[in-house]
Amino acid sequence: MTTRLWPALAIRFTPSTSTERTAVEDLVSAALDDLHPTAIQERDAGWLAFFAKPEDRDRAAAALPAAVAGSIEVDAIDVADEDWARRSQQDLDAVRVGRIIIAPPWRAANASLLASAAPASTGTAPSVIVIQPSMGFGTGHHASTRLCTSLLQRLDLAGRTVLDVGTGSGVLALVARALGARAVVGVDDDPDAIESARENLDLNGGGAGIDLRLGDFRALSTLRADVVTANLTGGLLIRSADTLADAVAPGGALIISGVTLEEESLVLAAFAPRMTLVERVTEDEWMGGWLR
Ligand code: SAM
Repeated sequence: MTTRLWPALAIRFTPSTSTERTAVEDLVSAALDDLHPTAIQERDAGWLAFFAKPEDRDRAAAALPAAVAGSIEVDAIDVADEDWARRSQQDLDAVRVGRIIIAPPWRAANASLLASAAPASTGTAPSVIVIQPSMGFGTGHHASTRLCTSLLQRLDLAGRTVLDVGTGSGVLALVARALGARAVVGVDDDPDAIESARENLDLNGGGAGIDLRLGDFRALSTLRADVVTANLTGGLLIRSADTLADAVAPGGALIISGVTLEEESLVLAAFAPRMTLVERVTEDEWMGGWLR
């Protein structure tokens, strides 16, 4: 059997004080925004950023040191898969957000039992969504996914169409269907994410009513839905505010996430000419917003 190699960038932070290191981490994080890593693993002296393609990794290797003026050292490496994602996430537990439980396959049976034993406050048992951890984002263990999952439950999705921009593992597409959406389109420009989303649809009964598309959402201007979810990054939301507003059908809703509290005012300002904030939710340093 051949072992798959993941293109990765080992990033070592060189500042000597923790204040300087935090500042450099913020800069690297902002620069990575545009460079599309598929996953970031923290290590003592720095980060290991994984990329879908060697070309993406090499672009990041060239761009990052310039963006942070010599405060990091980078090494382009190939990491043997050895089932990295599954091993590093094998301790993951199920996560409950209101009427939704997101569980890895090895917790699915337990989660279903818990769901039937503990109905949500509405009196109906929560829906269990099974997500196989992978290099793609979206196991439900990041606050930004939970914030979207929570906001989706404030909307009445019955019979509505949903567009999940940056679907990753497909988790929010599955959440939307579980909450009654009639038809969901999930878009991601990372082929590995679409592959893992397909695997997750299979784990959840085939994903009828969910259509997955590979591509950059900014190039798919014909996409339109009653509800659009966009768990991206603050920078990408700001730059794509018009495209996302265009994707919302008249009278519809946009859910944004992946925004830090620090970025919130700039992100909302980018949408302000066209959309207003109905509700915001926060967890740790993250916020999610429902706009109309
Ligand atoms: N929706 C999942 C969740 O809530 O857990 C995953 C969100 S993850 C933070 C963002 C996803 O957006 C990644 O899978 C990434 O590949 C995708 N993405 C980033 N930029 C994109 C673009 N321009 N077009 C399509 N997908 C994009």
